[in-house]
Amino acid sequence: MLTVEGLCARHGAVNALADVSFTAAAGAVTAVLGANGAGKTTLLRTVSGLHPASGGAVHFDGQALTGRPAEAMAPLGLAHVPEGRGVVTELTVEENLRLGGLVRGRVTPGDLDVAYDLFPVLADRRAQVAGTLSGGERQMLVIGRALMARPRMLLLDEPSLGLAPRVVSQIFTLLRRLVTERDLSVLLVEQNAASALAVADHGVVLHLGRVVADTEASRLADDDQLRHAYLGF
Ligand code: ATP
Repeated sequence: MLTVEGLCARHGAVNALADVSFTAAAGAVTAVLGANGAGKTTLLRTVSGLHPASGGAVHFDGQALTGRPAEAMAPLGLAHVPEGRGVVTELTVEENLRLGGLVRGRVTPGDLDVAYDLFPVLADRRAQVAGTLSGGERQMLVIGRALMARPRMLLLDEPSLGLAPRVVSQIFTLLRRLVTERDLSVLLVEQNAASALAVADHGVVLHLGRVVADTEASRLADDDQLRHAYLGF
């Protein structure tokens, strides 16, 4: 579904991505793992047109993405949920969700129901301003907001960052539900490799901007050498 071929990207003199290739299949959770500075965020930003590629290509359902601006992604069916859980703190939960539908021009009650069904806590807090939400609830809100654009693939940057293990497992369980029940595909960038591999079908490990492993998630989790060298668990 999403193919990355020989992708290169720079930050000034830093080669943040060097010849990165992998495929994120339809109907699967693909986890991109690696330590701080491995190039994970740069990879997602380059795929979604927020950072320029200096070489290589990205295709989504056969269409070339490289060189397209970030605004072109939503109509193609891609939604990027960046690191940092940016919500509009003065707006209510429901108003924030509605913002996610703007790229489609309208929001139906059914769209809101999908988000509320997946995240019942958001339904309970629909009239509350987003600034009062906990970190976990904000993460649910940014994922819910991305779903309002009815994407076919979600690109998620470090959703677990700073959250309690119980909340991380709740969010990752939901990602699995999105794939099985809503026919979504997920490209998940994570430093929390143990939790990500528990939910992922496939794993790609980046180290200093290069792919050092690309295989089934269960194989990565079972590979002691690789886990110790690159995944920190
Ligand atoms: P983290 O988990 O810390 O976000 P990451 O795996 O997402 O790490 P990137 O943020 O993509 O890694 O960074 C890849 C490399 O590019 C690192 O060496 C980083 O220092 C460098 N880099 C990232 N952003 C910039 C920037 N804006 N200017 C200069 N160098 C940058």
